Amino acid sequence: MIEISGMDNRETEACAEVLGIEPYRARQVRHWIFKRLARGFDEMTSLPKDLRARLAGECRFSSLETADLQISRDTTRKVLFRLSDGFFIESVLIPERDHWTLCISSQAGCAMGCRFCLTARQGFHRNLSPAEIVDQVLEVKRSMDDPDQLTNLVLMGMGEPLANYENVKKAVGILTADEGLNFSHRKVTLSTCGLVPVMRRLGREMTVNLAVSLNAADPETRDFLMPVNRRYPLPELLAACREFPLPNRRMITFEYILMEGVNDSERDAERLTSLLRGIRAKINLIPLNPHPESPFKPSSMERILQFQEVLIQRHYTAIIRKSKGQDILAACGQLSGQYEEHEARSGSGPDQVLQA
Ligand code: SAH
Repeated sequence: MIEISGMDNRETEACAEVLGIEPYRARQVRHWIFKRLARGFDEMTSLPKDLRARLAGECRFSSLETADLQISRDTTRKVLFRLSDGFFIESVLIPERDHWTLCISSQAGCAMGCRFCLTARQGFHRNLSPAEIVDQVLEVKRSMDDPDQLTNLVLMGMGEPLANYENVKKAVGILTADEGLNFSHRKVTLSTCGLVPVMRRLGREMTVNLAVSLNAADPETRDFLMPVNRRYPLPELLAACREFPLPNRRMITFEYILMEGVNDSERDAERLTSLLRGIRAKINLIPLNPHPESPFKPSSMERILQFQEVLIQRHYTAIIRKSKGQDILAACGQLSGQYEEHEARSGSGPDQVLQA
């Protein structure tokens, strides 16, 4: 099946040529998909009926099926998508003061094995295709009252984006292309646990914001929390950050989850400041989001404020990130993509949730 939303301009036109469809028709179809946010080929009324029918027969309109939608008390929306082979992924639409941010997944499951993360529990299923990444954005935009309010994208959902680099790169190309979804490069952020060689490639080949999940400032703790650290230890990771090409005034975001008694002491904060010396860095402090199987506890707010104070004294920008959507397990590290589990927990189908 042809998946138009995963193709760039050139590929769409090449594909049209193979099918014997004129290039301007291919452009029309792209316009309907990316600009008018059509919900199906039958809506593309500037195309002849027989062409619409033919496209519907040869192309898959969307690679995703919405299986569930949950809305948090703070209006965060978590969408559960079923992939064509039955796996589930999640995307989270997060309200900000004057816009929305969408957090998208790059893989079904994850192979990185971070101890604090719920997605890691299910292991790795497979990489998402470019269409499956782009369709998360399209499906969510189609469901919004004002789709233009969605201006920011973060690749921080399920999976490690740099372990699916080629597909992620292609999807980001479509999401940021003028004739695609036209997101600003400055408003797309990719978060990685630290796959160093791919990070270096990213720096050469793409212009998105980089976020690095650090979570510990000493080797032993990071080895324990994030197995990837044994492969690409802190000195290598920080060297790659130091050498990462940053356009004017941009910074690398370092994410640091605070866990009681694990990585939240004053000494940890001091270590963190010396690690980051010489890097244009912004630090996001994230109180651990607990999930039912988590062995860790979030640090107290008092501890978090003390931790932040050390960073601020050393002139770092350190923001405490308030988690959104916790009540529906939509916050960082709470995505599991498991329909059955959700069903069992809430006992309600999509319709009830929508009306709630
Ligand atoms: N694999 C990528 C992107 C997915 S994780 C990465 O590691 O960056 C996205 C963010 O959620 C990471 O910063 C991770 O550290 C954070 N996270 C994971 N589990 C969490 C939890 N239980 N509480 C708070 N943040 C969590």
